[in-house]
Amino acid sequence: MDIRKLEEKLKELGQPVFRLKQIQKAVYQDGASAFSEITSLSKDLREKLDFEMKILSFESVQILQSKDGESIKALLKLNDGNFTETVLIAPKPGTWSACISSQVGCPMGCKFCATGKLGLKRNLTSEEITDQVLFWRQYLKSNKISGNFSNIVYMGMGEPFVNWDQVRESLQILTDKNLFGFGSRSISVSTSGIPEGIAKLAEEFPQVNLALSLHFADDQKRSEIMPVNRKNNLESLKKSLQAYFQKIKRKIFLEYILLDRINDSRQDADNLIKFVRSVGNAHLLHVNLIRYNSTGSEFRASSRNRAQEFKNYLLKNHVGATIRKSAGDEIAGACGQLAGKS
Ligand code: SAH
Ligand code: SF4
Repeated sequence: MDIRKLEEKLKELGQPVFRLKQIQKAVYQDGASAFSEITSLSKDLREKLDFEMKILSFESVQILQSKDGESIKALLKLNDGNFTETVLIAPKPGTWSACISSQVGCPMGCKFCATGKLGLKRNLTSEEITDQVLFWRQYLKSNKISGNFSNIVYMGMGEPFVNWDQVRESLQILTDKNLFGFGSRSISVSTSGIPEGIAKLAEEFPQVNLALSLHFADDQKRSEIMPVNRKNNLESLKKSLQAYFQKIKRKIFLEYILLDRINDSRQDADNLIKFVRSVGNAHLLHVNLIRYNSTGSEFRASSRNRAQEFKNYLLKNHVGATIRKSAGDEIAGACGQLAGKS
């Protein structure tokens, strides 16, 4: 919802100032899907607002749910005809986490990622980014799904730090107590590794969690598969993480997709351990091992055994690591499978 537009509209209609707060609460906290649902407003005002404004800036055109009901993906049609996607995941029963997109497509071109294959179509606006969260709030309410909607992760389509202005504004809206009111610590931003972006996040949102999609601790491999590394190599990422820790003593998550025989050998694990040690504050770096979700690329997922071995080896070397459960594979709603309309 465009808050400024709502504010102007209410002024135009000669409404008292408290109306804005009333509507904000109904929309952002209670999940009203239409102004007509906000019964604390007069019928006349409800009708006028429904006629002149929309709560969501897109339409959902398809919703897919996994069999276990623990992940739900929505395909969203934006006003200009572009598509983007958002996923709702239950990391634990009774809690919901929204995985949101920051762009249509992505310019970074990581070879294992379906979104990367699309290239960048356009940036999302802060309204389109935060409306994904509104969408899920409405969805939970209208389907009477219980649970605590507690977390937001910027792990859908797009690289958040190449759309920083809009992403920044979206973070402000999500954490604004009069709007969504999410705690900063419940929000995570994931980047493929853009030092300027990491510095801005640390400066402006020190309590928001940072996830770095490292995936390779060897420059040659990383540059080949993640073009971003040709500009921002491991040395520059190391410095960027060190600068982060100088400011903030918060855990950083290093995302690491395990690709069979590409980055899952003992040598790869040793490189990763070396990288973690070189940054310092190793106890604040946690490796999330992700099993590769098929995107029709040349890669294959490491076997469960190899993944387990890789993890055990990291632990033995005092590097914190977990294998992340991959939610949403069967609905192509897992990380890296978001490709908009196919
Ligand atoms: N662009 C940002 C955030 C979105 S991607 C980033 O790259 O960090 C969210 C996560 O999914 C990233 O860690 C990304 O590397 C990972 N990912 C991409 N493709 C994947 C795939 N096919 N299987 C598993 N994870 C993938
Ligand atoms: Fe973009 Fe992230 Fe996919 Fe890389 S992994 S192409 S940065 S969305």
